[in-house]
This record gives sequence, C-alpha cells and structure tokens, in this order.
Amino acid sequence: MNIEKLLRENIRSLQPYSCARDEFKGEASVYLDANENPYNAPFNRYPDPLQWEVKEQISKIKNVPAENIFLGNGSDEPIDLLYRAFCEPRIDNVVAIEPTYGMYKVSAAINDVEYRKVLLDDDFQFSADKLLSATNLYTKIIWLCSPNNPTGNSLSRDEIIKLLTSFEGIVVLDEAYIDFASEASFSEKLTQFPNLVILQTFSKAWGSAAIRLGMAFASVEIIGILNKIKYPYNINILTQKQALLALGNAGQVKNWVNTLLVERTVLLNALEKLPFVKKIYPTDANFVLIKVEDANAVYQYLVNKSIIVRNRNTVSLCLGCIRITVGTPEENKILVEELLNF
Ligand SMILES: *Cc1c(COP(=O)(O)O)cnc(C)c1O
Repeated sequence: MNIEKLLRENIRSLQPYSCARDEFKGEASVYLDANENPYNAPFNRYPDPLQWEVKEQISKIKNVPAENIFLGNGSDEPIDLLYRAFCEPRIDNVVAIEPTYGMYKVSAAINDVEYRKVLLDDDFQFSADKLLSATNLYTKIIWLCSPNNPTGNSLSRDEIIKLLTSFEGIVVLDEAYIDFASEASFSEKLTQFPNLVILQTFSKAWGSAAIRLGMAFASVEIIGILNKIKYPYNINILTQKQALLALGNAGQVKNWVNTLLVERTVLLNALEKLPFVKKIYPTDANFVLIKVEDANAVYQYLVNKSIIVRNRNTVSLCLGCIRITVGTPEENKILVEELLNF
C-alpha cells in the first residue's frame, strides 16, 4: 500500500503554510510573534492549530492514539480534504455505495471529480466485488457509510474487510452513527489497514451539531496529509473549549444513547401498527426508514401538523420512503398520535 503514490502531485510537493504557533511550541511568558492584540484574553490568541488537548481526550474515549486523529469543521471538512488530497479534477474518480449520505457526491462535484455509484442490494447490503468492478486505475477513494444514511443498517463487516484488503486506494468508512450501533467501530483495525479512514462526528450522539466538529481516524501518514492541506486554525477556540466540556461529560452521552435506543423500539412498535406503513427497515442508528403508501402525502400531512421528517421518496431504492429521527419520548408521542389520524 503506497499512500504517497495515490497523492496528487501538487499536494505531494506542497510547502505548507507555517504559522507562528508551528515554529514555537511550548509555554512562554511573552508572546510577540503572531501580531495578536495583547488585550481581550483568551480570545486574542490564535488557538492550537492541531488541537492536541481535544485530541488527547478523544483518544482516551475512542481508544485511538491522538496522532491518528484529525479534527475538522464537521465531517464535511475531512470529506472535502480527501478529495483535494487524492483526486485530480476531471481525471480521477471515486466509487460509492448508493443510496448513501449526500455530501460525498456534492463534494465530488465541487472538486470536479467523477462520482461512480453502485446500488446496494434489496437488503441495503453491498458487495465488495461489485464495488471493485466499478473501479479503474483512476479510482482513488471508495465511500462507505455504516450504519448507512438514509437506510439505517450496518454494512457487512466481512465485505468491508474484503474491500479494505483488495482495494489499492483509500477506503472511507463513515461511522457518524456508530454510537447507536450494535456493531463495534472499525477503529481497532486502523493498524491493520493503512488505507482505512474512519469518520465520526460530534453532530449526532454527542449532541453537538452546532459546534461543527468532525473526526477522522487514520494512519499517521494520512493524518499528516490532511493536516498539511487544512486551514491552519480550522477549529476555533470556542469549539475546542465546548468539545472539552462535552468530552468531560461522556456519561451523559451514554445516557442519551440508551434513552434513544429504548425510544427507538417504542417508536418502531408504534409504526408497525399503522396500516399505511408497508415496510420498516432494520436500523442500527438513531433514525428509521419506513416505506409508506404515499410518502409525499405523509410528509405534507406532517408538515401541516408542524412535524418535520425527511422525505426520501426520490432517493434510489427508497421510493415511498420517509426517514424519521428518534426524538424525545414527548416528540415521538406527538408524531405517532398525528400519524394515527392520517
Ligand atoms: C449527519 C452525518 C454526518 C455529520 O456531518 P457533520 O459535518 O459532522 O455534521 C456525517 N456523515 C453522515 C453519514 C451523517 O449522516
């Protein structure tokens, strides 16, 4: 596996921006190196460009060494940076399961990179062989998402491993919903697969979508590439401080997840009794995909009741489908009561 060879030439030869806080590391008593205003502490100083304090805390909770962690402005940032690092516009391509999270495709379009979709099976599983046969010499990245959005299911571990073993490019495994899953994270397999990039986020189980903090776990080599091309101070001090507070309160996250998993079962049982619900797909996430007789009608009916769900009617393999996030017991009760009158 030669990561260096996969890189775009301009990124390989890039001399990255060197900021004041890169040149001097450690503690000093007088800082006159960065043209900052000496007043208005603590916001006057540039934040740590590599967010080591936050990474050390994440490392303890996720059991991933801090040097194998990249932090971005949401998962959106590592998604974009991976294109910019590895995909030559109009020449290289990526392969992704379909349907899946929309941002991989949008980011490909922004970066002018061909995006090749491979349909999932009827049970929303994928075949490593099918993905591989969609690749060619110019395929740099394969996008996987498990548990997958919008389908909710976890992907087959055996197929993921098969892909990681046989594809000679980057395999991104988006684990945004891993905290809700019955399956373990692939983070323990990072040392085994130098081409694996795992994405996780503070936006879902951590209840912190507003602070915009995404994580990528990967080999030191890949993390180094992302650090080389990111904006120097990509994570602001407010986000870093709030992340440290959240990380110090990880027990709360466990409680939220447990509550939401119980509520998910309650919601699934209630949905099962509705005559117009034709199918409830298995879920390993904090949302459920259901097939109804008329998705547009159900969606509009709920909007009129001031309840917003996600209409997935036009998504591949999701004809007639609606995606519902598990809310508080009160919110779920309101939803079910309105659906009973549909
Ligand atoms: C919600 C979600 C994310 C989160 O993206 P952020 O930019 O971190 O908020 C990432 N991947 C998937 C599949 C998601 O559904």
